[in-house]
Amino acid sequence: MKAAFFAETAGGKITGGALELLAWCRTLTAPEEITAILITPSVGEPELERLACSGAGTVVVYEDGRLDRADTALYAELVKSFCETEKPDVLLGGATLFGRTLFPYAAMLMKTGLTADCTQLEIEPESGLLLQTRPAIGGNVTAVIKTPRHRPQMATVRPHSIPQAQPVGKTGAPIRRLAVPDSLFTAGAPKTASSVKLPAGEELAGAKRIVAVGRGIRRKENIRLAQTLASRIGAAVGATREVVDRGWLPYSAQIGLSGKTVVPDIYIALGISGAVQHLAGMRTAKKIVAVNTDPEAPIFQAADLGIVGDLFEVVPRLIDGFSPKTR
Ligand SMILES: Cc1cc2nc3c(=O)[nH]c(=O)nc-3n(C[C@H](O)[C@H](O)[C@H](O)COP(=O)(O)OP(=O)(O)OC[C@H]3O[C@@H](n4cnc5c(N)ncnc54)[C@H](O)[C@@H]3O)c2cc1C
Repeated sequence: MKAAFFAETAGGKITGGALELLAWCRTLTAPEEITAILITPSVGEPELERLACSGAGTVVVYEDGRLDRADTALYAELVKSFCETEKPDVLLGGATLFGRTLFPYAAMLMKTGLTADCTQLEIEPESGLLLQTRPAIGGNVTAVIKTPRHRPQMATVRPHSIPQAQPVGKTGAPIRRLAVPDSLFTAGAPKTASSVKLPAGEELAGAKRIVAVGRGIRRKENIRLAQTLASRIGAAVGATREVVDRGWLPYSAQIGLSGKTVVPDIYIALGISGAVQHLAGMRTAKKIVAVNTDPEAPIFQAADLGIVGDLFEVVPRLIDGFSPKTR
């Protein structure tokens, strides 16, 4: 069973998400059947070695400075050309901003199916098909999806759904550099479906520190308080569904079952009750600090440090505590 994965790069380095996809591939098939595909404006040779040493059987690279904008149509043509040659049975990508843009387009070009935002993957023993599991209907049910008739079986996988692949030692896996045809950049090239600057919205998923706000923040203007604290401690700002549904922050800030899963070193929850659907996205944080007026709020069950108090009194004191003068 041949499995390939789209390894995203940022600033010449492979992302942690790429190593997670490699880890998923390793659960599905033998290392020699796994191919990493990189489409990138630049990537360092040691990064390619890193993929090879972490269990990828082959690394295929399309590297060209003209790929500096994440142009969906252009990237999708390269994914298609890779699949026509290599014929992978399974093709995985990250359920990142770019992965979620690129994969539907590539699936459409190859006339195959795609399951978005999977949280679990396995091979069905009797059929050898990929079982693609994802939450559906707002997280109320878990759907298991198969792609029996078309190839490749494509899926995007939710970040942090598996630990990153660890090095297995030098394997001598081939690194193949393929030319990006000039014709892709000329006037006759396919029309761009969307061209996004490589992800800024992803910063929440990889953030080491997160300040998250819940409905206790009361109104949109008050988000500034959390943003000030976040900027003092170098944190990203996240939110509950209550907050994004009210339009106080964009949906990309939502953490939880139907939002992002995060694994920061520290997670500061302000005015968040701690509903199971929210905990599903953040309880893997290394340290959780919660501020809530209700001593019975479930968030305190998950917190390492709980502050029973009004966030409008506590947060200004935290901001003062972290001000450059008092540090
Ligand atoms: C299928 C499904 C999927 C869902 N997916 C998600 C998801 O991905 N992410 C998510 O977050 N939710 C999700 N939800 C919603 C979830 O069930 C909760 O409704 C939501 O997490 C609650 O958000 P909250 O904590 O901001 O609000 P609330 O539950 O209303 O809590 C607000 C808290 O603020 C406290 N508070 C009020 N004033 C102050 C103050 N001045 N200072 C300090 N504390 C104060 C209150 O005591 C309370 O505990 C989902 C629900 C369903 C059914």
